[in-house]
Amino acid sequence: MAKKILERPKGFYAEFERKPGDKGATHYCPGCGHGNIHKLIAEAIEDLELQDRMIMVSPVGCSVFVYYYFATGNIQVAHGRAPAVATALKRANPHAIVVCYQGDGDLAAIGGNEILQAANRGEHLTVFFVNNAIYGMTGGQLAPTSLPGMKTTTTPYGRDIHNEGPPMKMAEFLANLEGPTYIERTALWDNKAISNTRRAIRNALRCQMEGRGFSMVEILSACPSGWKVDPAHQSEWMKENMGPFFPLGITKDLREQREPWFREKIAVEDEALLAALDLALAEPKRLPSALRDPRYANPSIKLAGFGGQGILSAGAMIANAGMEQGFHTSWIPSYGPEMRGGTAYCFVCINAEPIGSPTVTHPDVLMAFNRPSLEKFAADLHPGALLMYDSTIIDVPPKRGDIEALAVPATQMAEDLGNTRMANTIMVGAYLAKSGILSLAAMEQTLPLALKRKNLIEANAKALGVGFAFAKDR
Ligand code: SF4
Repeated sequence: MAKKILERPKGFYAEFERKPGDKGATHYCPGCGHGNIHKLIAEAIEDLELQDRMIMVSPVGCSVFVYYYFATGNIQVAHGRAPAVATALKRANPHAIVVCYQGDGDLAAIGGNEILQAANRGEHLTVFFVNNAIYGMTGGQLAPTSLPGMKTTTTPYGRDIHNEGPPMKMAEFLANLEGPTYIERTALWDNKAISNTRRAIRNALRCQMEGRGFSMVEILSACPSGWKVDPAHQSEWMKENMGPFFPLGITKDLREQREPWFREKIAVEDEALLAALDLALAEPKRLPSALRDPRYANPSIKLAGFGGQGILSAGAMIANAGMEQGFHTSWIPSYGPEMRGGTAYCFVCINAEPIGSPTVTHPDVLMAFNRPSLEKFAADLHPGALLMYDSTIIDVPPKRGDIEALAVPATQMAEDLGNTRMANTIMVGAYLAKSGILSLAAMEQTLPLALKRKNLIEANAKALGVGFAFAKDR
């Protein structure tokens, strides 16, 4: 009888939601090494029974979407800051297994000092450092680990070590510090190397589980898109070109010598902390809003369109006005790491109560500024939610009959005012009138916070009024 012996490790989600279509596909390019590394980590999570304890800290870079794949705790952080955030997570949750997943730009360039300090402190973290010798997500720029002579978009004549210096060898560099316990460099260029990487990943995780301190595995990995190498030949390219500069092996191993120790969880009471800082909780200000309908109270809002349409600024306008009126507010921008055809969107929450999560999966309000955004996100609205869309650009009305739709010819109205780039502000003005949750006065007052060019404030204030008048009685 046939027996199924291979299945998706429990460290992965059953379905990957990042890309539409095939729920088994990742967003990585063909031949990319991240997929292999993810698989090795996911298997280790299952075998070491870490799923309920692990917090993955994902970076900025191609692996920014780690949280779409690992069925663990996840947090995505600012560029290079993974070790700092991971430190806080580990100290607040000593029982958690905290893992930083970082690329070479993230770890060795902008985050160089973060990793140095965390390693030197001997933080009880595990770092998986994916070294593909190039900035992949942003289009193939020179990384600290790019090879001598390597052509990148910022070194079109090749890396000249007299100009850019030699590649940084992070596994050797960090091994010189007192703090780390276990550091090894591995690769993915053949089965033996992959098998060694599998072992090293487990060693690093066990190091943390046993309370022995900081561990890191530097993994030489392929970026055929950045290297401009046929994915079918990435393994040979990696071995031939990266192998000579980055010797494999353990650069530091004190696992046997270091006594296990575990940090106590520190309980901090809010009142005690405030008293120690000589602070008092400010009385929240709450300005009156002219809420027309309770349906619009406490909205979670998604604004979506193309980069350049002012999506993030429109969200910031709403969030700033919300704060001005004394609401709890959050604003989270999001733009894809894809090298082409990226969308821009942001989440805004305005709430009379503290906000549990600032991400918005099923919004109460969607402002769609282009057709792909409407088609992609309208399905996420819950029944009765409000959909506002720029009907100058989106000429196909939404299909759903169980939501409230408001067509705002925002781009046309902005053109009538002399600048199509104010379509975002017109949409915000229309939202104010429709919902009544925020006042026009609060919005006008906070407009300068969201607009970088101060000479545009007056015109945008006018655009707000135009959008407001349009939606006032609709
Ligand atoms: S650009 Fe490079 S690292 Fe990024 S997904 Fe593509 S192959 Fe992988």
